[in-house]
Amino acid sequence: MSGRRILVTGGAGFIGSNYVRHVLATTDDSVTVFDALTYAGNLSTIRDVDDDPRFEFVKGNICDPESLEDAMRGHDAVVHFAAESHVDRSITGPDDFIHTNCFGTNVVMDTARRLEIGRVVHIGTDEVYGSVEVGSSKESDPLEPRSPYSASKAGSDLIALSYHHTYGVPVTVTRCTNNFGPYQFPEKAIPLFTTNLLDDATIPLYGDGLNERDWIYVDDHCAGVQVVLDHGAPGEIYNVGAGNETPNRVLVDKLLAIVGKDEASVRYVTDRLGHDRRYSVDIAKVTDLGWRRQRTLDEALEATVAWYRDNRWWWEPLKQRS
Ligand code: NAD
Repeated sequence: MSGRRILVTGGAGFIGSNYVRHVLATTDDSVTVFDALTYAGNLSTIRDVDDDPRFEFVKGNICDPESLEDAMRGHDAVVHFAAESHVDRSITGPDDFIHTNCFGTNVVMDTARRLEIGRVVHIGTDEVYGSVEVGSSKESDPLEPRSPYSASKAGSDLIALSYHHTYGVPVTVTRCTNNFGPYQFPEKAIPLFTTNLLDDATIPLYGDGLNERDWIYVDDHCAGVQVVLDHGAPGEIYNVGAGNETPNRVLVDKLLAIVGKDEASVRYVTDRLGHDRRYSVDIAKVTDLGWRRQRTLDEALEATVAWYRDNRWWWEPLKQRS
């Protein structure tokens, strides 16, 4: 078997599983998923790649150095997605976010250092820049995270980069905007709204609905991660975004139009505590590496709604459980 061996932490979650599919479909590389299978990680999410000879699954926790070292040994590269990822959960219970995202990332980086892994990509978020009322955040902008989630992710970025500066570990950091697409846990905005609409239920919209996010199709993000893995410079940070800055109300209107419903399906609810108004990133650096987004927002929303319509087997049990 040719190609690299890539360890993907958090590969049974939303973006990690799409990344695994992307790697298997577009390269000769083989992939080991290392995932604790929290509520957000599910074997059903990677069922379709389970019998691929280039795929392996290891159940394990990034906070456990021994099992992580056993799994990571022999790999050429590590792509680190594993994290607690839902802002609302971080507001009601920050401890797990600090533990997994900061301590866990330290274990990932330290294990990569000891095993002299050739390439490490740490997956970060645009939320670390805080609310950006106008313009777009550059990688060199100050970090102003304002939720426990984004603070823990800012901490994890700095931990990851410290392993490059201190020990020479070849770490690169990506900071992506809000993802959507297949296999996203139905607590996040787009799958929650979509599945509610498919079930003829209302959708809860925070505050005045004017918070703005740059929505990116998950496969475009995965391609960006791959470009950064292949061509990014160690010690550097690369923003990834689609240039789709859209107020939530407009996003909801697009979803309503796709499923053939109207405003009567929308229920305005009390705003999220500390809700950042707007995120937007400058993507000149990742564009210089050759990355371009492939789908427009409208195309990607159509594809996503179609996927949720066709894959009730995946999301119905998860929604019932949560
Ligand atoms: P997700 O919640 O869908 O998946 C997280 C995965 O990590 C799950 O499979 C879970 O089981 C696993 N995990 C959690 N704790 C673990 C631990 N201690 N050990 C091993 N595995 C563990 O999250 P996602 O939306 O796919 O996000 C993946 C990464 O991308 C995260 O680092 C997140 O911060 C980042 N990110 C997400 C977005 C987004 O819009 N979803 C945007 C930018 C960056």
